[in-house]
Amino acid sequence: MTELQRQLKERFGFDDFREGQEAAISRLLAGKSVLAVFPTGGGKSLCYQLPGLMLDGLTVVISPLIALMKDQLDFLIAKGALAARLDSTLTKEENRKLFDDLYAGNLKLLYISPERLGNERFLRAIGRQKISLLAIDEAHCISEWGHNFRPDYLKIAQLAKDLKVERTLSLTATATPAVAKDVRAAFDIAADDEVHTGFYRPNLELSVIAGPSRGRNKTLLARIRERPPGSTIVYVTLQRTAEEVAGFLAANGLNAAAYHAGLKSEDRTAIQNAFMISPDSVIVATIAFGMGIDKSNIRYVYHYNLPKGLESYSQEIGRAGRDGEPSFCEMLASADDVITLENFSYGDTPEPETVGEFTRHIFEMGETFDISEYELSGRFDVRPLVLKTLLTYLELERCLASTGPFYSEYKFQPQCPSSEMFARVSGEKAEFLRSVFRHARKGTKWLTLDTTEVSQTIGQPRDRIVAALSYLEEKGDLILQVAGVRQGYRRLRVPEDMNAFVESLNARFQKRETNDVERIQRVLDLAQHDGCITRHLLGYFGEERDDCGHCCRCQGVKPTPLGDADRRTFSAQDEERVRGLISDGHESIRTPRQLTRLLCGITSPATTRAKLRQKTNLFGAYDSMPFKATLDFVEGLV
Ligand code: ADP
Repeated sequence: MTELQRQLKERFGFDDFREGQEAAISRLLAGKSVLAVFPTGGGKSLCYQLPGLMLDGLTVVISPLIALMKDQLDFLIAKGALAARLDSTLTKEENRKLFDDLYAGNLKLLYISPERLGNERFLRAIGRQKISLLAIDEAHCISEWGHNFRPDYLKIAQLAKDLKVERTLSLTATATPAVAKDVRAAFDIAADDEVHTGFYRPNLELSVIAGPSRGRNKTLLARIRERPPGSTIVYVTLQRTAEEVAGFLAANGLNAAAYHAGLKSEDRTAIQNAFMISPDSVIVATIAFGMGIDKSNIRYVYHYNLPKGLESYSQEIGRAGRDGEPSFCEMLASADDVITLENFSYGDTPEPETVGEFTRHIFEMGETFDISEYELSGRFDVRPLVLKTLLTYLELERCLASTGPFYSEYKFQPQCPSSEMFARVSGEKAEFLRSVFRHARKGTKWLTLDTTEVSQTIGQPRDRIVAALSYLEEKGDLILQVAGVRQGYRRLRVPEDMNAFVESLNARFQKRETNDVERIQRVLDLAQHDGCITRHLLGYFGEERDDCGHCCRCQGVKPTPLGDADRRTFSAQDEERVRGLISDGHESIRTPRQLTRLLCGITSPATTRAKLRQKTNLFGAYDSMPFKATLDFVEGLV
């Protein structure tokens, strides 16, 4: 038994490492940064849990899914580990205990969400600790060309350097060779320190049947009926489809329910819980379902609609057969779905004029400035994610440097007389506190401080004010709340040729759009591929294998061409309906593109805030029409 195996047995009670775990852990313990690419359920967490407990210092785990990590933490705590999760659901006492533990060096593993890294109070707290390991879950989000780019991820690498993190562990279950290369470059990981286990799952039988979208309900029903009962997920693209299909299956006597982000959270929980305990129920879900689901006996995953890309596809089918028993994954491929998927990509690309206006606006804000993403996303009608991406581009072009987000307003409720607080510190410090308190606006319950303003008035750094308030909060002298998050920036340079610069930004957005559309094409390629489906899919992720022998193609089913999407044209009646909407004069759909987005079912900040979805039945009425064709139609009307 090696020393590592002994530690594994002693701390976790496991006899052996799973594939890849020992390789990743021993590299980390040798001080190297590692990229681990394991399939979901492959045991990625252990790769930071074990070193986290063995190394002295703190291990910070960044995961977008910490809300779903309760089980993992309970498991760790049951094993006697000092682990905690920092999220917004903690009570004040829990929060205080967490920070006490952190400062006292009692914590070994701390789980946080990526957003937390934008919180200066948190960064200050953690900056005082020795961070021996930073683990980044879902690390593929760092790659701009990946399927799930998150601008806040791009900054983690810099932060790891700023916090003098000793080593990093990037974890993902989906990485094409190009994405893996991006992650390695960001965290200075040597090619040799990428630990990649195979993705092949011998118990999954992949199959694709092509056909028009009409009649798909019947095909699905027939498939479900002809196979032995078992726990089933049916993935669809739109919430509406989830309702329709679940309704159809239920009307035909199946135990089926819809699951999507549009349901109330109690309902979602109830539906999920019922699914978890049932051996044979069907859940018809949008991609909102599945993250963090740990049900080992899912026997069937159907793709009623085409998945967005092969990354999503492999993640979604990966939820089947975790128990190793044979499971079926079938895609009901129809070319009609392509339009809806493409429309989503177009919806994420900002208009070239907007990019220009926004960029010029930013450069006119002065040497140092701060913005509210919420406010700007409404004003320019671009989604927050797109806005963040645009700002990140400006940072990557070294035009801006982020000075970090901050809360402009602090509200507090003293828990003891202020004289008591002042008495606790001496001389200049007490005087400083007094002047801060004097400048707080008094409401009925809360005192409010605009930290930027007060800092200017009293001639003290804003940081010092924030630090003082945080100190009093930690001592329990006051309850502190923050409001009005703003993002601070420093302007580094203004591009000489602004037009060319804006053009290059637009080209970048265009490239992303092209990439997304190509991703859909890769799904179509898979659906029509006449060789082994499993091999083709693994090949996309850089894994070379022989034919699997058990997918539909290996079993001799020939592919049928998908053909073209079922296209209809706009009628006189359509014209009348849309003209009617235009004449209502809604402010949030003034431009042809804004109106087109609404018609194609793409939400935007302006229409969401104006609650337009509730005011017209035309939201998404044309979601089966191509975005570009709808735009042409709309431009003809205005
Ligand atoms: P991933 O994050 O890769 O999806 P997890 O880390 O959640 O997977 O691990 C899946 C399950 O496997 C967990 O219940 C975990 O406790 C268990 N596990 C991990 N490593 C081992 C091991 N070496 N031996 C036994 N069970 C393990």
